[in-house]
Amino acid sequence: MPDEHASGAEPTAPSAGRMLEAGGDNAIAVTLGILGDEWNLWILRHSFQGARRYSDWTAVGGISHAVLSSRLGALTEAGLFDRVRYSERPPRYEYRRTECGQAVWPILLAVWSWELRWAPDEGILPRMVHSTCGHEFRPVLHCAACGDPAGAREVVAEMGPSGGWTRSVPAASSRRRSSGATRAPNVLPHTMALLGNRWSAAMLGAAFFGAQRYGEFAERMQSSPAIVAERLRTFLDLGVLAETPSTERTDWATYHLTAKGRDFFPVVVCMITWGQRWFHAPEGEAIVFTHTGCGQVFTPRLVCSECDTALEASTVSVEPRVDGEIPRAAYSR
Ligand SMILES: [Zn+2]
Ligand SMILES: [Zn+2]
Repeated sequence: MPDEHASGAEPTAPSAGRMLEAGGDNAIAVTLGILGDEWNLWILRHSFQGARRYSDWTAVGGISHAVLSSRLGALTEAGLFDRVRYSERPPRYEYRRTECGQAVWPILLAVWSWELRWAPDEGILPRMVHSTCGHEFRPVLHCAACGDPAGAREVVAEMGPSGGWTRSVPAASSRRRSSGATRAPNVLPHTMALLGNRWSAAMLGAAFFGAQRYGEFAERMQSSPAIVAERLRTFLDLGVLAETPSTERTDWATYHLTAKGRDFFPVVVCMITWGQRWFHAPEGEAIVFTHTGCGQVFTPRLVCSECDTALEASTVSVEPRVDGEIPRAAYSR
């Protein structure tokens, strides 16, 4: 494969992130475009488990060459990987996570934990062990500023200058690279039901912003009544929303996040924080989070449920639950 910037292993300068176009997709839309794709999450996950070279991913199996090529290209273009030549003859390349790609790690951890807890029968996920304490653990969301635990109810979200519903979901056309040919691996089924579709992501956002009635969802999602009704049904079936019927009028029913829905908050806040760290709208942030406990800007930190110390990529290992998952030197790089 030809490569125009194959200068070898130049160190990557610390990146300030990327500037987005004024008035266009904001950081949330860009983030959903990248991480609301099951194959991208799959590729990143195996990258953290040591995959670097094209053959590392194909050896895991299940991904077609066309999908792997297009996704590696897209993740490189988005700034999550550097494509680095490791062999001159023949020319071969490997994909190393950039600082931006490395910073995805808490999101993967939060997604993984949520699926283990709330969709345990559908995907077969390896166990996660915290090497610092030796225990299987859950990541617990804390406020980095004050160090206290914080859930969805302790964090206030306000729209920033680049917020707004239409700018926060990716255009449908931008999501469908190489669709059809290969089915996604389906190891994160509930996460993808919430994030892998622009209307679902918009509904989730509306729910976290306090929408409760059909009309409030419809207004924020700016989509057809049929789509809103269908997504509400999906979210009810998933157990992410629960319905309280009205005895007076059917359209007065209210919907609220269940424990399962609220428990997805660490994923949402880690994703948006990552997106806003690496993709900047010229107008400013899309969402500003504040921790009500300390009054400071909320920055997520994930802490081990068993030993209360902050989690780092280098101290988490994945171990196979059943045959077929690669243990390798987990998270070694
Ligand atoms: Zn705080
Ligand atoms: Zn621990």
